[in-house]
Amino acid sequence: MSRFLPLLLAVILTGHASGYGNAGHQAIGTIAERCLEGTRALKEVRLLLKEGEGLDRAATWPDRAKLPDKYLSAEMKDFVANNPEHHSYHYCDIPFQQTVYRKDGIGANQHDIVHTLEQCILVLQAKEDKADNPLKIRKRVALMLIAHFIGDLHQPLHVGCSYVDDKDQFVDPNTGAKGQADAGANYFHVKTPKGSALHGYWDTQTVKSARDHLGAEDFPTALMKAWPVKPEWDGKGAVVTWPIQWASETLGRSKSCFDGLKPHNRVLVPKDEKHDNHFEWTVTLPPEYPVRSRDTVEEELSKAGYRLAAVLKAVWPEAK
Ligand SMILES: [Zn+2]
Repeated sequence: MSRFLPLLLAVILTGHASGYGNAGHQAIGTIAERCLEGTRALKEVRLLLKEGEGLDRAATWPDRAKLPDKYLSAEMKDFVANNPEHHSYHYCDIPFQQTVYRKDGIGANQHDIVHTLEQCILVLQAKEDKADNPLKIRKRVALMLIAHFIGDLHQPLHVGCSYVDDKDQFVDPNTGAKGQADAGANYFHVKTPKGSALHGYWDTQTVKSARDHLGAEDFPTALMKAWPVKPEWDGKGAVVTWPIQWASETLGRSKSCFDGLKPHNRVLVPKDEKHDNHFEWTVTLPPEYPVRSRDTVEEELSKAGYRLAAVLKAVWPEAK
């Protein structure tokens, strides 16, 4: 998610992008291309992408567009200028106790991941390739945003969020309880107050564990073999409604991110140029957490790749 610049700079220095990290997003793009082999959709994708640019590369574009201005291409600068809220396109903050994503619910807003994906799908479906749409983007950028955000939509902490009350208990603000949002679990530190953020643990550590577990040499193929397609992975109805269906499903998975965690060592972090005063906590991971999170991420990556291809096939069906 990397909502914050300091974190983002750390990310640049360590070579890791946000969301699922480069490795995760690239695996999703590669799986999608394999699922698209021989289809009209892949031909349309090739027409929009540059020579040698695959869906794996396209899937990291929205994270690269978050870098400081001097690193941005003209295309990225144009996108950023027209989309000042683009950092919030990567996630929503639905209380993890909820069972469905609602567009007017707490933690959803018109700049969130579901709304953005819907807009991008409409841009790809439009007859003409013009930027007269709410995001002011053309089809090429819409494709790259979809390639990334379908991945983010399958990272549980990009959808489900915890809210913590003044007794350090998880609460659901839908009940009227007051709690502070965890910022995609960026405000939880693993083991020690200076430990890595739980969000980063899910973005990169779990993907690394999955690569160690399944084999890094051809990670996408290993994911597809270990987590083959299930019938319930297919969206129902019109393609533009799939993001909201999948957000609700990921919300269900986000519950396990918080299962067994007890926020403690509350620390008040003073206001700076990026955030207001807020609290941060330490969390200790239960012994089974690393395997549980690794298995979740393996399945989500395989599913996200399959679903990215499914969206593109729905946008560009085979000629009858
Ligand atoms: Zn992202």
